[in-house]
Amino acid sequence: MDRPPAAKEILLIALGGNALIRKGEAGTIEEQFANLRLPVRQIAELLDDYRVIITYGNGPQVGNLLLQQDCCDAVPKLPLEILVAQTQGQIGYMIESTLDSELMLRGRRRDIVSLLSYVVVDRDDPAFARPGKPIGPAYSGEKAATLPFPTIATPKGHRRVVASPRPQTIVEKREIRKLIDQDFVVICCGGGGIPVTREGRTFHGIDAVVDKDLASARLGEEIGVDLFLIATDVDGAYLNFGRDDAELLRTLSVAEAREYLRAGHFGEGSMGPKIEAATEFAGRGGRKTIITSIAAISRAVKGEAGTVVSSEPL
Ligand code: ADP
Ligand code: MG
Repeated sequence: MDRPPAAKEILLIALGGNALIRKGEAGTIEEQFANLRLPVRQIAELLDDYRVIITYGNGPQVGNLLLQQDCCDAVPKLPLEILVAQTQGQIGYMIESTLDSELMLRGRRRDIVSLLSYVVVDRDDPAFARPGKPIGPAYSGEKAATLPFPTIATPKGHRRVVASPRPQTIVEKREIRKLIDQDFVVICCGGGGIPVTREGRTFHGIDAVVDKDLASARLGEEIGVDLFLIATDVDGAYLNFGRDDAELLRTLSVAEAREYLRAGHFGEGSMGPKIEAATEFAGRGGRKTIITSIAAISRAVKGEAGTVVSSEPL
């Protein structure tokens, strides 16, 4: 039997892109639903002991929408804020229905809600002066020169580049808190949230993407989450990643995490923001962050897998 909600700690799980599309796959909807069952089965079990918030990335899905837009001039192009909103709905539905089905198979019922979420960013964030996040399809250099947006050369080709500003606050934090207090499973902050700026009393969507790990850390702090788990496609954070002497880090203090981050051990735009999210969460009252693989979510919660970044002395 479930314990009363107040007796259960709050667990925030951030699902990486590979929860839906694995490397080398075409990314059909059938593949995406099938892949989701691995994390969702584990999450269904964790619901006995935790109140759960699920956040998720949207990189490949937003990339596909951008490519579809490129292929059609018959209707107006949609700005990035709308594409982020579309993928929030799409992936939110996929996670929710997969979790619902998993619970029904187990003869269980839980209240689940997927929430469109927008995240306030600062118009003066330095990221807007130096857009650095590649998104969408790769173009030839020739094609890139004709495009109405800035691009950068990447190993895959020239890609559109947008700003990735810091998340200031999650607009729906009070609603999420109320839902989680009533033991709803809340699925939110897809793709890091729809980025908006606040001008006076109004919000304006803006062409940018917020890192989903940093947005999750901010949400975790604003909600008062106990445990933050980042599920990705590696079993944790490594020192000397990709080299023969690579070493999986099992436990890290916040000071060590910051030091290794400064020393450049963690990939920019990949493991870097996860470690940064872990240190931000810890610095603002969060107890513990675990970085682990999608397959090892349950084991990581039990302390048997992953990299733990702890605000408490180790
Ligand atoms: P997600 O979609 O889960 O956010 P990312 O691709 O953004 O996934 O981040 C995970 C990737 O980070 C791994 O696949 C790995 O290639 C890369 N990475 C970079 N530096 C490290 C490191 N020091 N330790 C582990 N993985 C790293
Ligand atoms: Mg990522």
